Amino acid sequence: MKPYDLIIVGSGIAGIGLAKKVRSLSADIRILMVTESNADNYYKPDLSTAMSNQKTPEGLVLESAQQWAVSNDIELIEFAKITDVDPHLKAVVVNDIFLGYKRLVLATGATPKLDLADKLTGVRHHFWNHWSDFKCFYQQSTHSKSIVIIGGGMIGVELACDLALAGKDVTLLSRGLLMSSVLPEKLSLFLTERLARAGVQVLTHQSIKSVREETTIEIELASGNTLACEELIVATGLTPRVDLARQLGCELQDGIVCNNYLETSVKDIYAIGDCAQINGKIDMFVSPIERCIDALALSLVNEPTPYQRQPSPIFLKTPMCPVAIRMDDDQPVEWVITQDEFGATGLAVSAQQRIVGFVVMGSHCRYAAKMTRKLHSYYQAELTEEAI
Ligand SMILES: Cc1cc2nc3c(=O)[nH]c(=O)nc-3n(C[C@H](O)[C@H](O)[C@H](O)COP(=O)(O)OP(=O)(O)OC[C@H]3O[C@@H](n4cnc5c(N)ncnc54)[C@H](O)[C@@H]3O)c2cc1C
Repeated sequence: MKPYDLIIVGSGIAGIGLAKKVRSLSADIRILMVTESNADNYYKPDLSTAMSNQKTPEGLVLESAQQWAVSNDIELIEFAKITDVDPHLKAVVVNDIFLGYKRLVLATGATPKLDLADKLTGVRHHFWNHWSDFKCFYQQSTHSKSIVIIGGGMIGVELACDLALAGKDVTLLSRGLLMSSVLPEKLSLFLTERLARAGVQVLTHQSIKSVREETTIEIELASGNTLACEELIVATGLTPRVDLARQLGCELQDGIVCNNYLETSVKDIYAIGDCAQINGKIDMFVSPIERCIDALALSLVNEPTPYQRQPSPIFLKTPMCPVAIRMDDDQPVEWVITQDEFGATGLAVSAQQRIVGFVVMGSHCRYAAKMTRKLHSYYQAELTEEAI
């Protein structure tokens, strides 16, 4: 059988977006997508607002797999495992069929970190990283009232808000302060207080000693306290999915190592999306993935086009305390914070006294667009009264 011009592995935002973009640039390229999940097209960020918006799993689907695959003339193999690979012959084996490729793109996403795996053995728990996770919760647990979420990062915080707005009794357990990798202490405490006002019980600086399931799920904390709940959600972070890349012999670090043309260390194999570590950086957000899609599609169809990285803006989907974050790669050494009853603003200041990012919260989010426009000039400017 003639090799495919392009095989894409993975049907998330990166895989489907790339397939459609390549097709929009060329009617002739023969494209196959292989994915181990179903390939219905949904917008993953909607997962953390689905419960309060009273969405069903089916209600989150934007287009069925058949719809987008047929209308874009893309061959599709769903629910399929790649069981063998041969990067020298440029082929993968799926369902015992040997499929040749000219170019192969890995869009295999990320998978939940398993730090707590040993403590959760035999205990029913949920992840919240794929449409199928939401479907499972929706089908089995939607009527449960008491929920503990482990993990005080972006997804844990968003889910806590979503489930509280949906009328659940939510406890959010965090190892440190909430969103401590991006928020300074004062702003993290502001967020914590807003979540508490909305009815979320936030317990920071907690570590889990043991978890067991009897009639309810019981969590024993290192502090000696215990919590009981009907549902346990684990949101302790994601790690790039690299198993297939490893089989193919691609260089790996924290993710699949690639350059700004998204080329891996193996000829004619590319990586995109949450699985890719591009020039040392892993950006698990939609806007960088969209920029990667544009660059890689042009590279595959026309001429090599580099991906131009920009720091990703983060908008937390937390209606009781909206948060917008914009951060350069420079680490702040200091934060200048202004706060009132309704909102807070933090300006991140580098060792060179440059403003390298900002956080706005609550009512101060109305300044987000203006501050984003100004940020570029802030980068050049000294820290001044006017900037604050
Ligand atoms: C709850 C939640 C809320 C979020 N909110 C936001 C937000 O507000 N803003 C934002 O910018 N970002 C947000 N993100 C992050 C963003 O959604 C992701 O960065 C993006 O969706 C990742 O897309 P992807 O295609 O790289 O990966 P995925 O969606 O994980 O897709 C990977 C695909 O690869 C398949 N696959 C993996 N391995 C194999 C294999 N070996 N063989 C075959 N198939 C395989 C999987 O089945 C899946 O189809 C959120 C993420 C989550 C979980």
